[in-house]
Amino acid sequence: MILGIDLGTTNSAVGIVDSGFPILLADEEGQRITPSAVWIGENGEIEVGRKALRRRSLEPERVVTSIKRLMGRRTAELGENFPVAVTSSNEGLPLVLGKSPEEISAEILRELRRIAEWRMGVEITKAVITVPAYFHDAQRAATKRAGELAGLEVIRILNEPTAAALAYGMDRLGEKSRIAVYDLGGGTFDLSILELQDGVFQVLATHGDTQLGGDDLDGLLLTKILTSAGITGLSLAARARLMAEAERVKMALSEQERAVFRVPFYEGSRSIEQEISRADLEELAAPWIAKTQRLCRLALADAQLSVEQLSAVVVVGGSTRMPAVRRGVAELFKREPDFSQHPDEAISLGATIQGGVLSGALRQIILLDVTPLSLGIETFGGLMNVLIPRNTTIPCKAGELFTNAADGQAAMRVRVLQGEREMAKDNWELGTFDVPFAPSAKGQARVGVQFKIDENGILEALARDIATGTDTVIQIHHAAVNVDDAAVEAMVSESVKHAFTDMAERVFTEAKLKAEELLPAVDAVLAQGLALDAERGEIEAAAADVRAALAAGAANPLKAAVQRLDLATEALAARLVELAMDAALERQLAGN
Ligand code: ADP
Ligand code: MG
Repeated sequence: MILGIDLGTTNSAVGIVDSGFPILLADEEGQRITPSAVWIGENGEIEVGRKALRRRSLEPERVVTSIKRLMGRRTAELGENFPVAVTSSNEGLPLVLGKSPEEISAEILRELRRIAEWRMGVEITKAVITVPAYFHDAQRAATKRAGELAGLEVIRILNEPTAAALAYGMDRLGEKSRIAVYDLGGGTFDLSILELQDGVFQVLATHGDTQLGGDDLDGLLLTKILTSAGITGLSLAARARLMAEAERVKMALSEQERAVFRVPFYEGSRSIEQEISRADLEELAAPWIAKTQRLCRLALADAQLSVEQLSAVVVVGGSTRMPAVRRGVAELFKREPDFSQHPDEAISLGATIQGGVLSGALRQIILLDVTPLSLGIETFGGLMNVLIPRNTTIPCKAGELFTNAADGQAAMRVRVLQGEREMAKDNWELGTFDVPFAPSAKGQARVGVQFKIDENGILEALARDIATGTDTVIQIHHAAVNVDDAAVEAMVSESVKHAFTDMAERVFTEAKLKAEELLPAVDAVLAQGLALDAERGEIEAAAADVRAALAAGAANPLKAAVQRLDLATEALAARLVELAMDAALERQLAGN
């Protein structure tokens, strides 16, 4: 089992593929999102997530948030201010409360691992962890190290926009699709443009702001409230409480038009109560949204793409729950973005899917893109010869070599069939074509038949005359993949219902073909007196058995009789081959 982990700046989440399904795992409180917060007590005790945030109003200086910002960076390059005090190690690396960013991130990962193991009831030691597309090597390496400190083998570091695209199923778009992923979280904004080619995502361009996210809006909202209430000089602890309330009000305004900001006794006897409307919030958010739009334009320019050239726009990050943000995205990309996924769960879901694919637990993920029924061609005797079995994932390709059944035959009819029945006549015909070849002795002409289904479900049946390399091709649109559910069900249940008789019919046909080939050869050999006296009796008896079984039309007796005849003529056949080889050798020697 491989965990899929979104180790976010503000929030983290973990998932796993369980019984073929990717699921996110909820903690004891039923929450699938764990705040990326770590409380480090004076004696080194640790609390993670909501438990850590609850300590904020008591010990704000001991609660570390946004640690992701420090990952893989040197103290000297940290321009911005950080929520808690940062010191520097002798090597010039940042330390928070005496711990490295990797160690603190490891605490979050350890908690996610604990939740997963508790939910699944087994030890889990492998993970896929996501990082922003712009993370450089040192930041990726630091993330990997954090995983290792938490006892996890990091199987893959996955780009967040790629994870989002996986969650939305964008990996199944047609060839060469381009996708924009707009990710507005708590502390950062990213816009990535991905190109999907041959099943692999490549980042074409990425732009963003590591200091732009929902937290800023909470700050702007709080400043507005404090200004209008004439409040100044807050303690760190009081500020933490007011910020939490600002965030709650902001989130409420995504659902409703008005909300009340209310914090009783935030400092001594002081309380605040103020009503805020969605319009107030949107006024504050407008410049902030415009900034994300500018960054999107930069990324598009970098990738040299216009919005019309994008196949899809995927929206992730908790802040995209805000209606104004959604409008901003729609306006810029001139389309309604896809909101089918939970914005704050899509990345961990994508990581989980990637983990499932890597562990082999998720082979069924593309079940939608499968052949609903088997595809094949009719072969001699009216049998169905399956080339692509049902439930094969597409795109796919399969082929087989066939030969002519009769002397002097100059063409082969290829009937493209769909269905689960053993006999061609019981399946559906999708198309027919003839493959011409030079008149040939039985078994001499060789025709290769290949079926290819592309990602759009178009079946191409190709037949090649091996001798000349001439191809005959037909295309069958959609019929191969777009079959009505009820029809598929009917076909499958028919095949189950008739399984026994169908099988008997197939066995009989196959044995009959074999008998029709064997009997004339045996008769000829016997007529020429090539059989030894010792064999002759058994061969004649076996041949009579085959004729009787053929006349009776019974599958299993015919199969047994053919086997008996085969066995009786085995030694004779070997001698005939030897004789033929000797004769050929002699002819060759005589020729030289
Ligand atoms: P990150 O990727 O930075 O870890 P998330 O994608 O989880 O963060 O987004 C967290 C941000 O989303 C926070 O600022 C939070 O306030 C904001 N958010 C979550 N839900 C809502 C909502 N319903 N309305 C507005 N903002 C929200
Ligand atoms: Mg995120």
